[in-house]
Amino acid sequence: MRYVTKGLASLSTILSLLLSTVQAYGWHDKTHLAIAQAAGFERWYSAAAPDVAKSRDEFRPVEEKNHYFNNNADQKVTEKMVMDQVARFNKPDDDEGHLYGAIIGSVRDYKKLSATGKYADYPLVFTSHYIGDLSMPLHNTAYDTFNKERHSINDGVIECNALNNIGYIQRSIYEIKIQNEEDLAREIARVAELTRKLGALIRKENRNMTQQEAYTQIIHSASLFRAILAYVGKNTSC
Ligand SMILES: [Zn+2]
Repeated sequence: MRYVTKGLASLSTILSLLLSTVQAYGWHDKTHLAIAQAAGFERWYSAAAPDVAKSRDEFRPVEEKNHYFNNNADQKVTEKMVMDQVARFNKPDDDEGHLYGAIIGSVRDYKKLSATGKYADYPLVFTSHYIGDLSMPLHNTAYDTFNKERHSINDGVIECNALNNIGYIQRSIYEIKIQNEEDLAREIARVAELTRKLGALIRKENRNMTQQEAYTQIIHSASLFRAILAYVGKNTSC
C-alpha cells in the first residue's frame, strides 16, 4: 500500500512538472491552417510557422509574447488597450504578453515591406497566426491553473477535423469592413472580448470548449483575417 501511494505521489509530481514546463502554443497547427485557408490566404500552409519559430530557444524570447495576452486583471479589451500594446511587439520583457499589439505590428510590417516592392508575404503569415491565437480563449485570459491544465486539450478541440471543414468555415465567414488602423484595433478588441467571455464561461463551468464553440471562435478569426487581407490589398485565393 505504501508503495502504491508513493508511486501515485511521484506520478502526480511528474505530471505537475510536465504541466509547468509545457509551452502554450495556441490552436494546434491544422486549426491555424484552416483559419488561414478559409480566409483565402495564398500562403495558408505556412500559418503554423510562427509556432515553429517560437520553438527555437534563440527565437522564443522575442516571439512567444506575440502569441498571447494573459489578461490577469480580466479587464474589458478596448481599442485603446490594443493600441497600447503595439510598442511591445517583439519585446521579450513583458510578463502579460501583447498579442493584440502584435497583430497591428505585423500588419504594419507587411505594409512597410510591400511598399518597397519586396516580397512581403511573411509578415502576413505572422498576422494569420496571431489572428488565430486571438480567438483561443486560453490565449486571452490569465495563465492560471485552469489554463495550464486544460491548455493543450483546448488547443486541439477541432484539430482532427478543421481542415475537412473549410467549406463550412467559409460559408460562415461574415463581413467586416476595415478601412484604417482604428477599424482594425476596434475589430481586434471585439473578437478579444468574445474570446475573453468564453474563457470566463468555461472556467465558471469548469470544462473544455465544445467543438461548436471552437468553430464559432475560429470563424471570428477567419472573418477578421479575410477583412485584413482586403484592407492591405491582398488578393484572396478564392
Ligand atoms: Zn501561437
